[in-house]
Amino acid sequence: MVVAIDGPAGVGKSSVAQWVSERFGFFNLNSGAFYRAAAVKVLDSGVNSLNEKAVVDTVQTATFDIIDKHLYLDGVNVEKRLRTPEVDKASSVFSSIVDIRHIINGHLRRIASAINLVAEGRDMTTVVFPDAEVKIYLDASVSVRAMRRFNQGSSSLSLEDIELSIRERDHRDRNKKEGSLLIADDAVVLDTSTLTLAQVYEKVTGLIKAYL
Ligand code: C5P
Repeated sequence: MVVAIDGPAGVGKSSVAQWVSERFGFFNLNSGAFYRAAAVKVLDSGVNSLNEKAVVDTVQTATFDIIDKHLYLDGVNVEKRLRTPEVDKASSVFSSIVDIRHIINGHLRRIASAINLVAEGRDMTTVVFPDAEVKIYLDASVSVRAMRRFNQGSSSLSLEDIELSIRERDHRDRNKKEGSLLIADDAVVLDTSTLTLAQVYEKVTGLIKAYL
């Protein structure tokens, strides 16, 4: 069974997906982490980020594995390197390249085959898992998302700069040639602007229970 959750940057998808996957014993597939790892690969390689072909060729050679629920890039656990402003930006830019999306989608589907999972990202409900049994779109205003990120205390940026970065990423997410952030016709939309994480979790859990 696939539970697919999409929504914009900073809406709380990762936290909700993690809780829900633990609650139901499903695997938590964080597709954004794959785009982030791809960005790490490109940044490390030293290729010119503006050279699309070189970027695609570089990501093509990368291996992505999940070992004990952790993401390994080329055999190395890179999770600690995925949440920097540099990787925020680079993953947003590179994920607009259609060939990069095809490479990542292949890895996601390979890893997902034959297991129950909660998959979260931008195009899980629309492109990668269009037949998902439960589809959810989480939303919240830009200012709420920026404030949540800021309050996490994990970013080196000011609140203003976080908001700016989210706006830029939203713009790119909504203007991709493929895999743009869209609300699937059959997705349940939850506006989380005035909800706590626990309330969102309860609602998502309720939707999965209703299906089961
Ligand atoms: O969700 P997260 O912010 O970690 O994603 C990192 C980047 O990867 C985002 O900027 C987003 O544009 C991109 N992404 C994507 N498609 C997905 C998941 C993430 O393009 N399914």
